[in-house]
Amino acid sequence: MKVICKIPQTILMLGPAGCGKDTQADKLVDNCGFQKISTGEILRDEYEKKTPAGLEAFEYWGKGNLVPDEMLYRVFAEALKKYDSQKGWVFSGVVRTVPQIAMFDEVLEKLGRNLEKVILFNLTEEEAVERISLRRVCPVCKKNYHLKYIVPKKDGICDTDGAKLEIRDDDKPELVKIRHQDFQKAVGPIKQQYADRGILLEIDAAPSIPEIHEEIMKQLGASTENAE
Ligand code: AMP
Repeated sequence: MKVICKIPQTILMLGPAGCGKDTQADKLVDNCGFQKISTGEILRDEYEKKTPAGLEAFEYWGKGNLVPDEMLYRVFAEALKKYDSQKGWVFSGVVRTVPQIAMFDEVLEKLGRNLEKVILFNLTEEEAVERISLRRVCPVCKKNYHLKYIVPKKDGICDTDGAKLEIRDDDKPELVKIRHQDFQKAVGPIKQQYADRGILLEIDAAPSIPEIHEEIMKQLGASTENAE
């Protein structure tokens, strides 16, 4: 028996680095069969594969700066073709500037979808730096760990594939501060546009992972039903 989560199927998560948006997106993957689509992960993947676009974009994100809109959306639109359009999609961090709002709408429209909900995570700079200093990532499956909140079973090793966990290139405190300030500068008008469309939900990112997940499900009006 399969459980179907009756929630919107195209969701965008927005928030500063360290706010836990990827962890919450993973919860929708595990509990509701969504696919998570993160521009940060797409960029890191392209960089690891040493594609020209990946190397070009690293010049920006490797220094803690945003990747220019056109460059980012070229890579993103191409990468999106690999995902399963029959599934629910939860996007993480794909809109960080005002022009990207329209660019994202256009990419979705071409695939016959539209953005149903935007979840904005609120977190202070101090909390973001504190959380990120303890973040680790698996270089193979990309799973995020946290030395306090999502602890691997074996110290420094990924539970899924046994790879040695790493610190992301852009997770140094100075870069986290730049990213946080960039985000705060950009988010006001983005938030306003989505609020005007009536699709914005705001979430306090300070509580625990299960508490935030519960709050998100509540705000999304979740109900579950069994499918044969
Ligand atoms: P993240 O994994 O979401 O923290 O993203 C890592 C980095 O990738 C960000 O700090 C940016 O430099 C870059 N990036 C990701 N998404 C975007 C976007 N929508 N626009 C511009 N740059 C982005």
